Amino acid sequence: MEFNILSHFKGLEEMPTDPLKADEIGTSLFMTGGMGPQISKKMDEKAKAAGMSRRNFIKSSLGFSAAMLAANEVTGMKFFEVGAAEAADFDAKKEAIQLAQGSSDFVVDVHTHVCTRPGHYQLGVNTSERGMWFVELLDNLGKAFGMPNGTRDMNVENYGKMILKESDTTVGVFNPFGFREDYGGQDMIPIEYQVGVRNNWPNNTVMLAGGLTPNQGVGATLDRLRQYVDDYQISGLKLYTFDSTPQKGWWFDDEKRAYPIWEECQKLGLKNIGCHKGIPFGQFYARYAHCEDFDATADDFLDLNFIAFHSAWPYHNELAALKGFKPQRKNLYCEIGSTFAATVTSRPVECAHVIGTLLRDIGPDYVLWGTDSLLWGNPQWQIEAFRNFQIPDELAEGHGYPKITPEMRRKVLGENAARIWNIDKQRAMSAKADLVATAHA
Ligand SMILES: [Zn+2]
Repeated sequence: MEFNILSHFKGLEEMPTDPLKADEIGTSLFMTGGMGPQISKKMDEKAKAAGMSRRNFIKSSLGFSAAMLAANEVTGMKFFEVGAAEAADFDAKKEAIQLAQGSSDFVVDVHTHVCTRPGHYQLGVNTSERGMWFVELLDNLGKAFGMPNGTRDMNVENYGKMILKESDTTVGVFNPFGFREDYGGQDMIPIEYQVGVRNNWPNNTVMLAGGLTPNQGVGATLDRLRQYVDDYQISGLKLYTFDSTPQKGWWFDDEKRAYPIWEECQKLGLKNIGCHKGIPFGQFYARYAHCEDFDATADDFLDLNFIAFHSAWPYHNELAALKGFKPQRKNLYCEIGSTFAATVTSRPVECAHVIGTLLRDIGPDYVLWGTDSLLWGNPQWQIEAFRNFQIPDELAEGHGYPKITPEMRRKVLGENAARIWNIDKQRAMSAKADLVATAHA
């Protein structure tokens, strides 16, 4: 996520958050978002029902279920399929978690980041003012989610600890940041650093490369792409169409600047091309966060998959139209990192509209799970929220959204990503079991 959510969640930075206790993070977000005061009030009676002090209750796993129940009560709609017992009794809660895990035990998080590099970021030395603005934003997020050193804690080691060991994530697909103009001529997250994630956990990670910016020169861009494949055996791309060059941005359907990249991808056997769409943050121009350039590109490169990260939110309707009106299209995907996280606890009506629109128009075979962690800390609260999330009858009926079935959840949480990246599910699951065993040994 790349916008200041702390301005939407009042007082989040003062809530107690242990980075390894995801429930507490989720509860804090419910209690500080748009419905925060009403939810917070309801936590009193729910703590009483569980026979616990408010303080202990909020810090416990019951608190998160209680917050979801409270959101249902405040809105008068059933956004979360949570029973009252799960908010009052630890055995009932444990049982519910085991049931949910059994029903969707394979989780591929398509949108994850490390956010540091050797030498880190120093203003005036290797980072411009614009670059520092982004680092500070991420620093504050990290601190709010219990990482005392901000981005310095969003490192390779903690990637393994929080995403792979302490959450139900089976496979993390990690995403780069480029913007070299702002970071002393080096990618913000250089591939030499982020490859450490894959080296440590080869069976539980997929590496995407980025920082390809054709405004820096098409020839140089193609050279970098070939180097990524030759030296790092990357599994796809995650790009940004706004950039930090004087031209400010580019389009996927630019036949001179972009098509040579896609032609090279075809030659190199790279199939999955992602792009940040939506969430127009910081100094970047919103026009490049729109997704209309996916239209011609998807038609002209039918053998490549194009993935709109963030599902282009808040322009998700534009994205949905590229498939809703063109149902023949088979290579357009969307990913819900930060989009789900930013809306589910504070604006569930909006969350249901976004997820409903994507499932209805893009289709349940083309929606990919992502959390944008470590930017949101430990992703487990998001996984639990999604396992419980439902589109209320009122909204489903009025807008033609599908109700979310267990099969849809399995597809979105893991099976769609496993299909397009050819992930060996059995190998990933058994490596994950080993990781969890050592984490708890
Ligand atoms: Zn991201």
